[in-house]
Amino acid sequence: MKKLLILSGKGGTGKTTVAAAFIDFLSARAFADCDVDAPNLHIVAGLMSEPERKDYHGLQKAYIVSEKCFGCGLCADKCRFDAIQILDGKAEVDEYACEGCAVCSFVCPNDAVVMKDDVAGEQALFREGRVFSTAKLKMGRGNSGKLVTEVKNALFKASEADLVIIDGSPGIGCPVIASVTGVDLVLIVAEPSVSGIHDMERILKTAGILGVKTAVCVNKYDVCPESTEKIKGYCAENSILIVGKIPYDKQAPKAINAGHSLASVECPAGTELKAMLANVLELLEEC
Ligand code: SF4
Ligand code: SF4
Repeated sequence: MKKLLILSGKGGTGKTTVAAAFIDFLSARAFADCDVDAPNLHIVAGLMSEPERKDYHGLQKAYIVSEKCFGCGLCADKCRFDAIQILDGKAEVDEYACEGCAVCSFVCPNDAVVMKDDVAGEQALFREGRVFSTAKLKMGRGNSGKLVTEVKNALFKASEADLVIIDGSPGIGCPVIASVTGVDLVLIVAEPSVSGIHDMERILKTAGILGVKTAVCVNKYDVCPESTEKIKGYCAENSILIVGKIPYDKQAPKAINAGHSLASVECPAGTELKAMLANVLELLEEC
């Protein structure tokens, strides 16, 4: 099973647009959305069936047993995250601020604090005809790297496809590292701007540390040709292949807003994406 991961240094560069087009061009049998903070691949994946859903448990959180709490405030004093307030003589935990360290439960003189598993999100696995693994983290919950790993594992377990396509998380943090681990090729979607070049360099370094093969494509390359030249220069210096340059295309947002990928629309961006896919498949063959 070959594993292709599509990444960008930040959101909004067209990562999901590329992933959705590849999935459609190939009629892919297995794919995943690892952008668990803001998943959106399902919007263009055209999935109709009801998925298998599963709660995702992240960190534990503190809960106050009201009948046992006599409002001494010791837990609030010791909480380094200011997650506890004493209101009307009882402790109250702010679930968004609680980091699950359990100090409050140790210091409480009356065993009025219990640590409970927290439902931090939900995983979904679509299996009708093709396998699509995705998840959504609840607002204010951390540890998304663990959830990304769960999403990938669910995909690998449920499918025996020759190729899986993974839409990764933006940025360079823990969820990205979890996305990169174990894949064959990382395709980085770069944006021709000062911040886009910086983000691309950071994600290339991250993938390099993890020893994964990388390639770059430039989205909306004609919006800023000078920055596109800089991306080309950086890639040439570092022996990184540029597999495609996607032009700015007014039809792209229209297609996406209508829930279609660019594979289903006759347009310059779609034509370039198809040519780019051939280059990516060639690279994957060598992995
Ligand atoms: S330490 Fe225990 S008893 Fe005191 S306020 Fe906190 S929960 Fe209530
Ligand atoms: S578990 Fe830790 S972070 Fe959460 S309320 Fe207790 S002391 Fe504060």
